[in-house]
Amino acid sequence: MPELPEVEALALDLKGRLDGHAIARIHVAQFSALKTFDPPLSALEGTLVDDVTRHGKFLDIDASGTHLVLHLARAGWVRWRDEVPTIPPKPSTKSTLALRVVLDDQSGLDVTEAGTRKSLAAYVVRDAHDVPGIASLGPDPLTDDFTVDVLKAILQKEGGKQLKGVLRHQGTIAGIGNAYSDEILHAARMSPFKPAGHLTDDEVQVLYDALRTTLGDAVERSRGLAASELKGEKKSNLAVHGRTGEKCPVCGDTVREVSFADSSLQYCPTCQTGGKPLADRRMSKLLK
Ligand SMILES: [Zn+2]
Repeated sequence: MPELPEVEALALDLKGRLDGHAIARIHVAQFSALKTFDPPLSALEGTLVDDVTRHGKFLDIDASGTHLVLHLARAGWVRWRDEVPTIPPKPSTKSTLALRVVLDDQSGLDVTEAGTRKSLAAYVVRDAHDVPGIASLGPDPLTDDFTVDVLKAILQKEGGKQLKGVLRHQGTIAGIGNAYSDEILHAARMSPFKPAGHLTDDEVQVLYDALRTTLGDAVERSRGLAASELKGEKKSNLAVHGRTGEKCPVCGDTVREVSFADSSLQYCPTCQTGGKPLADRRMSKLLK
C-alpha cells in the first residue's frame, strides 16, 4: 500500500507530467471506484491541471478548481502512459484498470488496482476537504508545525492504546500505514504494543526522531523517481516490514511477525521487545 512517502513522490512526479495540460477525457472502468456523483466526472473534462498534491495518503489532482482525489488503498497504483489507446476501455470487473485520465496530447494515466478486494476510491469534489477521509485526517507528520510537543500531546491523549495502532490511525497522524509504522517502531527500538501514554519525555523524543527520519529519508529517496520505480524502492529499504524470517539489519536477530488488527506486523525482538517474542493476542484470546 502506498503511504506518505510514495504518495508524496507520486504527487511530485504527476505534477511534472500533468502541469499545464488539459484533461480531455476520463474513462471509468470500475464503477465501484467512483464515490461521488456531484460534480459529475465530466466536470473535469476540458479543465487545465493546476497542481497535484497530497493529503495523508490521498492524491489530489486540482484541475482548475475541480479536484480528482484518489485513495489508492491496498493494491492501487498509478501508471503513466506516453500514449493511451484511442479506444475507451471496456468496463470490466476482471481488469485491473479502474480509471483512465486522457490528456490533451493523448498521454495520460491509468489508475489500477490489483487483486480482488476492490477498495480503491476516486472522488470528484470542489474542495479536497469534501472527501470525508481528508476532512478527518490528523496532522501531517512532516510539516514544520508537527513538533515533538504535538506528538507528545497526541500520545498522551491516546493513553492506553498501543503505539502501532496510534501511528497508523489516519485521524491521529496522517499518512503512516502498516509498513512505515513497523519501520518507525523498529528505528525507535520500541514494542508495537507499548501503550502510547506511557512514554517518558525522552522516549517521546526518540519516537519523534525515528518518525521524522524514517519518513523524511523515504521521501528523500523517492523524490524524482517515476511511479514505476517507487514500489521497488520502498521494498528494498524496509528493515523489518514484510521481512518475517529474515535477519534484522541492525542486530542480526530474526524478524518476527504477529497478527495485529486486520493484518500482521513485523518487528525485531532484540531491538524492540527485550528479546522476547510477542504473543499473538488474537490467538491467546481464543485459547482462554
Ligand atoms: Zn534487531
